[in-house]
Amino acid sequence: MPQVYTGRFAPSPTGLLHAGSLVAALASWLDARAHGGRWYLRIEDVDTPRCVPGADQAILQQLADCGLVPDGPVVWQSQRADAYADALQTLVTKGWAYPCSCSRKDIESAQTVARHSAAVYPGTCRDGLGGKPARAWRLNVWAVQNALALPALTHWSDRRLGPQQQNVNEEVGDFVLRRADGLWAYQLAVVVDDAAQGITHVVRGQDLADNTARQVVLQHALGLPTPHYLHTPLVLGTNGEKLSKQNGAMALDLHNPHAALNALNTAAQVLGLSPTTEHSVQQALQQWVTQHSTQGC
Ligand code: GLU
Repeated sequence: MPQVYTGRFAPSPTGLLHAGSLVAALASWLDARAHGGRWYLRIEDVDTPRCVPGADQAILQQLADCGLVPDGPVVWQSQRADAYADALQTLVTKGWAYPCSCSRKDIESAQTVARHSAAVYPGTCRDGLGGKPARAWRLNVWAVQNALALPALTHWSDRRLGPQQQNVNEEVGDFVLRRADGLWAYQLAVVVDDAAQGITHVVRGQDLADNTARQVVLQHALGLPTPHYLHTPLVLGTNGEKLSKQNGAMALDLHNPHAALNALNTAAQVLGLSPTTEHSVQQALQQWVTQHSTQGC
């Protein structure tokens, strides 16, 4: 039986939606609607120190004000610890995850290559902790690739950016699954939840594209399917970087229908769609279908 298109929007409640995050929300909704699929919401609140109390409900209200209403129950990652623990246990049992005692300073002083200013983990604790206490848990990327006969270069295809590849082992290293502070890492949570929610199509901001190869490796390690990916253009802040609270993003006030329509039109333009009136959602969907085919992905 063919899989039913299932998409999602997965905001982190570290603040309200702004012009940049609405682009990803709208794109994921449009893509689901254009495929006659389902669209779900997941609140990614694993990084509790960065979460703003009440932002989750406020985001749901902002989305509802834009007419973006999920087709099923909302999932909160803070309620999914058991599923993440099971996944980690599966990896530990296979010998593909190991405890790490390194501090950030240890990693920086041992590293030779830097990428996006994040240190490449040099594999210090792969063969044991040397008597030091365990802090984080990491995926042994090489062990997974070797056991499953996966190539060193992870290939994946983006519906907008085209073919992509990354040598996760060399460019990132053994990445964290559970952090030293006990919190679940984004990579593990997102892979477990995309599978649990039956997500077939991930549509999200381009700033996250760089995480995809890691997620593909983790999907293989956990025996989970790899969804189709589409990374949407970013809205840039005044400093030329991705729009965020730090560079001037304003929380969108979408209470009145006019404000919501304006914000949606601005987001639609970032996606290369022409402005619409409230009666022409159909037109936006048609344009979207023309621009984004899933064929060949
Ligand atoms: N929670 C992430 C964010 O708000 C999105 C993660 C994802 O879509 O994979 O940036």
